[in-house]
Amino acid sequence: MPTRTELTSSDLSEIRQSALGAANPLGVAAELAEAVEAGRLADPDDAGYALALAAEIAESRTKLDAALRYADRAVEAYGKRDDSQAAAARALRARILFRAGREDEAMAELEPLRPTLTQHTDAAAFLSAALAAGGRATVAEEWLTDAVRGLLAERAAEPTDADDAGFLFFLLQQRHRLRHALGLQHDAHDNLAERLESKLANAGARVDAEPDGDLLFWPHAEFDSLLAQWPAAAEQYGATWDEHRARLERELVRLAAAGRKGLAVLPASVEGLVAFAGTDGDPADARTRAGYAGQLFAGPAQITWPPERNEPCWCGSGLKYKKCCLPRSR
Ligand SMILES: [Zn+2]
Ligand SMILES: [Zn+2]
Repeated sequence: MPTRTELTSSDLSEIRQSALGAANPLGVAAELAEAVEAGRLADPDDAGYALALAAEIAESRTKLDAALRYADRAVEAYGKRDDSQAAAARALRARILFRAGREDEAMAELEPLRPTLTQHTDAAAFLSAALAAGGRATVAEEWLTDAVRGLLAERAAEPTDADDAGFLFFLLQQRHRLRHALGLQHDAHDNLAERLESKLANAGARVDAEPDGDLLFWPHAEFDSLLAQWPAAAEQYGATWDEHRARLERELVRLAAAGRKGLAVLPASVEGLVAFAGTDGDPADARTRAGYAGQLFAGPAQITWPPERNEPCWCGSGLKYKKCCLPRSR
């Protein structure tokens, strides 16, 4: 990174993939902050993202002071943006404040994010995580309950399946899991959550919450290069890129239905796989690829799934999720 003059968005994704495995992750975090400072981002809109990434890296090494400095700057860089990424950065800042024992400030950061529960599909997850880090899981349960009630009140009838429930499905699921974790009795909303979940699970004919495969996502060029070098990989990942994306999307839907949380795809590269395999591993071997997936899974190298219906698809096609990989699961 220090040799590069400019950091592009794809450089940042790459750093996100490799930072935690780097020899000096805190050095990577510092370099990210410096690149922002020195105006070395190809897209200045990436400043918040780069700084939030630096904050996450520092937080993972329990350098809370540094993490908080980066998170402060990330929030500042996002300014008035109110998209999911900006909200996630605020929730991250709150989580770090909680961990630093600054509870009032953490709550002051989180309160204004409460309406995002009905705006961003991933808000239920990042708000719950921040509140849980502060020992406030019951507050998260209250917020989720209110949001669920609000969305149900706007509907003429109870949703018949997860797709019909849309947004509500993510809230119901998050709330259901949280209430189980808190040891609460099932209520009507939990019953609804379970009905929708089991319907999805039946559609997928499985309720196993373990991934069936490695959740590696090969971007288009990487996919082509993978199959060119190891044609047999088509068995696992599909013969075409469309099939690859459809398989991944279906698997993620199945895992979500089985109650698996924090779902993400792991953006893979042939270069990364070959580096992981080293001199004695075989990239053609599914076990090597599973090991590579394990390495990516342990790092911050992930694309959170699912995106919002109207947000860019996780596959990087540039299309809206609802027009791209969402329908591939059917
Ligand atoms: Zn239950
Ligand atoms: Zn897509």
